[in-house]
Amino acid sequence: MTQKLRRFVCANCKCSELTTGGGINYHCAECRKEKGMPDLTSPQYLAHQAVAKARKAGLLADPKTLACVDCQGPAIEYDHRDYSKPLAVEPVCRRCNLRRGPALTQEVSHG
Ligand SMILES: [Zn+2]
Ligand SMILES: [Zn+2]
Repeated sequence: MTQKLRRFVCANCKCSELTTGGGINYHCAECRKEKGMPDLTSPQYLAHQAVAKARKAGLLADPKTLACVDCQGPAIEYDHRDYSKPLAVEPVCRRCNLRRGPALTQEVSHG
């Protein structure tokens, strides 16, 4: 599936950018950084994008139809343990996801 580039105007600095994503409240990369918004090129963001795409393509089920792998309660979202493997996800409920903490964003030296 190809995504069309569209022109979005940053809601903050009014610069315009050609991008595949964005919305009414679009912010350019610089303003995102300034405001502490998610970096569109971060592994975390890309991993979540990959899951969203896989769900649209029917490769992953809606997590809300699955059971949390930790507590067997109703899951609400997919949890990443390693953002370098964007589709290696497990359905979890919010509580268990919080308890799991953030995924690895890059190689961490163990020991
Ligand atoms: Zn801006
Ligand atoms: Zn759970």
